[in-house]
Amino acid sequence: MHKYAMNSASDFMPVDRLRAIQNQKFLKRFRYAYDNVQWYRDLLAEHNVDPSKIQSIDDIGKLPFIVKTDLRDTYPTGMLATSMDKIVRFHASSGTTGKPIVVPYTREDIDVWTECVARCLTMFGVDETDVLQVGYGYGLFTGGLGLHDGGERRGCALVPASGGNTARHLMFIKDLGVTAIACTPSYFLHIIDHARKIGYDWKETKLRVGIFGAEPWTDGMRQFIEKETGIVAHDIYGLTEISGPGVGGDCSCHAGIHIFEDHFYPEIIDPETLKPLPDGEEGELVFTTLDKTGMPLIRYRTRDVTRIIPEPCACGRTIRRIGRISHRSDDMMIVRGVNVFPGQIESVLTSLDGGLVNYQIHLDTNDSGLATIEVRFEATPEMYDEFDRASEKRDALARLVAEKLRQTVGIGFKATVAEKNSIPRSEGKMQRIVDHRKED
Ligand code: ADP
Ligand code: ZN
Repeated sequence: MHKYAMNSASDFMPVDRLRAIQNQKFLKRFRYAYDNVQWYRDLLAEHNVDPSKIQSIDDIGKLPFIVKTDLRDTYPTGMLATSMDKIVRFHASSGTTGKPIVVPYTREDIDVWTECVARCLTMFGVDETDVLQVGYGYGLFTGGLGLHDGGERRGCALVPASGGNTARHLMFIKDLGVTAIACTPSYFLHIIDHARKIGYDWKETKLRVGIFGAEPWTDGMRQFIEKETGIVAHDIYGLTEISGPGVGGDCSCHAGIHIFEDHFYPEIIDPETLKPLPDGEEGELVFTTLDKTGMPLIRYRTRDVTRIIPEPCACGRTIRRIGRISHRSDDMMIVRGVNVFPGQIESVLTSLDGGLVNYQIHLDTNDSGLATIEVRFEATPEMYDEFDRASEKRDALARLVAEKLRQTVGIGFKATVAEKNSIPRSEGKMQRIVDHRKED
């Protein structure tokens, strides 16, 4: 039997006990990283940190951060903390924001990760009676194999469909009695599109749970998906460096993401001053892996922006929640001095009648050298039918969207109704921002 089976009891531990476990694991993991990774010893020396001064998790603030470029600079195995014979697998980040980062896993690392995905599934109400179709890509990306292993651990019947072949996804959902699907939210939109095209009836399926993550998505998107298909949509969060999907997920209260903090210790810092922020304040999420043996990370800056929610959750879990990821700091656009991120735009679009879910953001510079931002979006099929009868409605919609965006974000936008099906669809993570300024 696995050391970490499904272990959902850990979600409900008394807080004091949880803190004691974190403290004990932190000291052990810090020592382990220090003893086994020359790069980490050098980092501490560079920051004049005396390891003997680290005596409890309350001293964590004395330690330097590890950042994404450190993992690239030590590519591929410069941060390995164990001999290669203990490594059973490699994964790599999808590289949405640069070169891939390669992560080595020991058997124990895979075991912890699998446990966390299984705990997520329990949180989503998925169990051994479920048929789980995995529509995340299988391969170096952690989505496919992560959900696969966790689903098997939970006892589900797995359909390892991977990304792509959308018609087959829809066919299997019906024919195999699929009850839960896991994929990126943007791929699920693509599946919904295809279903509309072929007149697919979601009521004829047994699908009831969607497990969406690997990219930011809004509550507006959730409402659209749930209304369109009749399923309940859950959020699953994670990153390759820390393990993969299943670092946390949202319970049936849908009020933030519970972090499995008996394995991953969260902090929020101010990305400018690097000082820790009190619970409740928004900043950059930082993780310390409390059990990792392949590539332990102490104070790793994720670049994801969120806050720790201090209030206890109505579900009774004592592990803390973070807000849904508002954005990655890499996705932050600064337009004429104002910070803009895709989630704000998505919230406006999805709040409109019928939900406008297919969109792309184009950044450019006009002839006077001023930064411009254009949102190109598709209308709903019903709206396109109306445009055929009354073309002025198309312009009216564009004006309405531009005005709402201006009110929400505080700067002028160009809003363009795109042709039907012209916005690219994604089988994995969707690239929402197209930056033409970089083409000059
Ligand atoms: P990358 O996309 O950086 O190449 P990963 O495939 O490991 O690498 O993706 C991890 C990142 O994906 C996270 O740091 C976060 O930005 C994003 N992400 C994952 N799950 C979610 C989620 N549920 N909500 C928002 N963002 C998410
Ligand atoms: Zn909860």
